[in-house]
Amino acid sequence: PTPSFSDYLREHIRTVPDWPAPGVQFRDITPLLQDPKVFRILIDAFVHRYMDHDRRPDVVAGLDARGFILGAVVAYELGVGFVPIRKKGKLPFTTVEETYELEYGSATVELHTDSVHAGSRVLLMDDLIATGGTMMAGKKLLEKLGAQVVEGASIVDLPELGGSTRLRAAGLDLYTLVDFA
Ligand code: AMP
Repeated sequence: PTPSFSDYLREHIRTVPDWPAPGVQFRDITPLLQDPKVFRILIDAFVHRYMDHDRRPDVVAGLDARGFILGAVVAYELGVGFVPIRKKGKLPFTTVEETYELEYGSATVELHTDSVHAGSRVLLMDDLIATGGTMMAGKKLLEKLGAQVVEGASIVDLPELGGSTRLRAAGLDLYTLVDFA
């Protein structure tokens, strides 16, 4: 059988066991980015989906930090702006913030209050969905500013952690390219 696009991408994702903590299988996307051909086909997969008239966002928001790499390139290719959703303490202007639970402790993310207009259609991007907490926090931040998240997109989904199911149940459509069981 012909290997699928998903298999092709999966071959370029490195699994690092027990990083950053014991028991975590870290799915490292840097090999995807560092191969120019794979990087291009990866970005094109997102661009081809969102250049369609009915899916075209007004702006792309990227989640700190690997969502910046993908989101900025996709935004550039679509001809729309890019806004970063950052870990707390990095953005210099006035922000809205959202705190969410991690396995150990909590995390806070921020967004500049003037980054999106009320009513804007936003594509929200990250590299990977695990528990879905990060993407959910991003969606809430954008909604605090009156924007509408039209879709969440990532390279990887870890379906067994339940994040993508929870996000979809919360009304967020998702587009992901590779699953790891
Ligand atoms: P979550 O909020 O649990 O969905 O976690 C997603 C965020 O944490 C993304 O920004 C990922 O980059 C990172 N992340 C969580 N788990 C992993 C993993 N197993 N491998 C790589 N990145 C991960």
